[in-house]
Amino acid sequence: MDSHFFHFLISHAKTYGFVFPSSEIYGGLNAVYDYGQYGVELKNNIKEYWWKSMTQIHENIVGLDSSVLMHSNVWKASGHVDKFNEFFIDNKDSKKRYKPEVLIREYVDFRKKKGYKNNHKINEILSRLDQSLKKNDFLDIRVLIEELNISDPICGSKNWTNIRPFNMMFKVQEEKGDLFLRPETAQGIFSNFFNVKKSNRMKIPFGIAQIGKSFRNEIIARQFIFRMREFEQMEMQFFILPEEEMKWYEYWKKIRLKWHLELNLGNEKYKLRDHDKLAHYASIGSDIEFNFPFGFREMEGIHSRRDFDLRNHEIFSKKKLRIENSIPYVIETSLGLDRLFLAIFSSSLKEEKLNGNQRIVLKIPPYLSPVKAAIFPLVQKDGLPEIAKKIFNDLKIDHRLIYDQKKSIGKLYRRQDAIGTPLCFTIDYDTVKTNTVTMRYRDTMLQKRVHINKISKIIENETGLRNILKKLLI
Ligand code: ATP
Repeated sequence: MDSHFFHFLISHAKTYGFVFPSSEIYGGLNAVYDYGQYGVELKNNIKEYWWKSMTQIHENIVGLDSSVLMHSNVWKASGHVDKFNEFFIDNKDSKKRYKPEVLIREYVDFRKKKGYKNNHKINEILSRLDQSLKKNDFLDIRVLIEELNISDPICGSKNWTNIRPFNMMFKVQEEKGDLFLRPETAQGIFSNFFNVKKSNRMKIPFGIAQIGKSFRNEIIARQFIFRMREFEQMEMQFFILPEEEMKWYEYWKKIRLKWHLELNLGNEKYKLRDHDKLAHYASIGSDIEFNFPFGFREMEGIHSRRDFDLRNHEIFSKKKLRIENSIPYVIETSLGLDRLFLAIFSSSLKEEKLNGNQRIVLKIPPYLSPVKAAIFPLVQKDGLPEIAKKIFNDLKIDHRLIYDQKKSIGKLYRRQDAIGTPLCFTIDYDTVKTNTVTMRYRDTMLQKRVHINKISKIIENETGLRNILKKLLI
């Protein structure tokens, strides 16, 4: 991992109002983060891109906004009460909690880094770990930790507890029994499946899309917004005929990968990986992985959940959830909004050398940029601020703009580069004579003169979602 870059990224996100640690004035809260003034804009733009490409350009996909709290039977039916477990091990001396799998992988990584040559032994360890994980054989993983003599990375103690399961759902106490904060948005879709179908006369195949918060009590969460305890998901459940499972599974894998690639973050940063270890509800699945600053990791999952959820909800609710007497199968696409945010942020953040100087620039796709354009007066006199302010006021209903005059023009450009504003318009003395302004591009820093009347159209063409949505139609 490039830890220097990762620290720089976290600090840039904070300095420029993208992501703050939660409750920082009280020392922070582990694995919870807040989005600042530009973070929320970027997040909203990502959501709009996803929402429109799901619901607006697919006539057979509609949206939903279900609640975070649901009847506790939902989580019994979905299998989350019994099976949504992580396995952990405690060190009795340091009182620290670890994922056993991570301890073993870190042991292997450390050996490799130290130039340990016995590849055969390393492969043996990894394949034994994989086998045991597949079989949920935590007894063997415990034995492996013992055999490898693994010690606590903090205090060096080998005084380990047994490996125990831990349910990742957060409980909310109520008089009538516990409620849970949802660990996935999908169950809100399944429990409303019939309401949506009926109220909109939907015919199979059709989909329901939803964006919303999910909560998981993650044991190990130290990768910034990659793994949080409160996060946001963008999920779509697509209801199909059982015999068309493979057709739609392959279809959604292709469509989702294309959607990501259109962001232009670099095709080499993506990997499509078929699952060998499946979640309790899935029959087949694959991940779209992204090359984050700490390596390739899951960003989106595409699974066939078959009739697992609707069938169990039928049993628990005693309501028929069928179409013409059969239960549809479901292909799900499940994307972590915060992970996509991190993917975009990390691959767009660049330190560039410019004839001796350095500039930090956030080359976010323009249609996702928090601010679309900045308007500056070249100097703070001779009526230039008034003209600039008028242009800003005329355009601010149509576009997300910034007006700034607090510093020299060079410094104003640098600040916009750092927050990823794709266009800057500077009002100068020629503006008074010719009604033209200087337009500067963030990525190339090229400048040209454009007429004031053209500014709005340029911003629309260069930064609107329209162009990318059009590409998804092909
Ligand atoms: P992981 O293996 O990384 O824990 P998962 O396989 O449990 O992820 P899913 O249950 O498939 O994840 O959830 C769908 C998506 O939700 C993931 O692809 C990811 O983008 C996002 N996601 C899951 N857990 C978190 C989390 N703790 N923080 C942020 N995003 C998450």
